[in-house]
Amino acid sequence: MSEIIKTEAIVLKSMKYRETSKIVTLYTREFGKVSTIVKGARRAKSTFGSSLEPMSYVSVVFYKKQGRELQTLAQCDVITPFRKLAEDLEKMSVGVTIIELVSAVAHEEERNVALFNLVATSLTTLNDVGKNSLNLLYAFEVHLARILGFQPTFGRCISCGRPLSSQLSPDDEIVFHLDRGGPLCGNCANTGGQAFLLSRGSLINLQRIASAEHLVDVSSVDISKESKAEIGNFLWSYLRYHVSGIRTLRSEKVFAKILTVS
Ligand SMILES: [Zn+2]
Repeated sequence: MSEIIKTEAIVLKSMKYRETSKIVTLYTREFGKVSTIVKGARRAKSTFGSSLEPMSYVSVVFYKKQGRELQTLAQCDVITPFRKLAEDLEKMSVGVTIIELVSAVAHEEERNVALFNLVATSLTTLNDVGKNSLNLLYAFEVHLARILGFQPTFGRCISCGRPLSSQLSPDDEIVFHLDRGGPLCGNCANTGGQAFLLSRGSLINLQRIASAEHLVDVSSVDISKESKAEIGNFLWSYLRYHVSGIRTLRSEKVFAKILTVS
């Protein structure tokens, strides 16, 4: 017996299968990652249209059978079209990276509504913002770390709890303790463990991004090219340090390119 399921989803992956079908991986609100087969999706008369493209925010109906590897997708309708993602290389790259990160950290049929909401809101906001779309990726990564249980903090020494000195200049380097997920003050800097050197300026930018009340607010944080490179590097290192499923994702290379040309 199969169950009929209706839920919201983000399309993670879409690939051709046999003559006319597709295999589509979804990140669903109710069941986490679900792999589906869409029979006849590539026929000329198919009603699925562009709804099966990666990053689409959709409402789906599928037949779910326990123990089956591929569920059967019956219906897929776009909830919010993300037209601007396709028109902007930076936005597109941020979106692709978000999708790849979710694919890497999510497990089949493991419900995580907080993660679903983060992905849906991040892509919606990414589509809408007028500038600094890379900041949406940084915000996504910080919140992803929080949801996965290793929230980083940026304002106070993670060891003694004191605020970092206001005497520091933006270029001063601070030791960030990867294991404990926070910076160390001068007195505590030699406590051992895996460390990442971050400039004070980047720590301030990260704190502004992490503490923004609404995701859209992060687009008003202007970050220098140098600090972007540092923050991008740091967040990758931090996520990779904590999540075994993240290795070199394809999109990382795309980003390296964007950062050098922009
Ligand atoms: Zn300290």
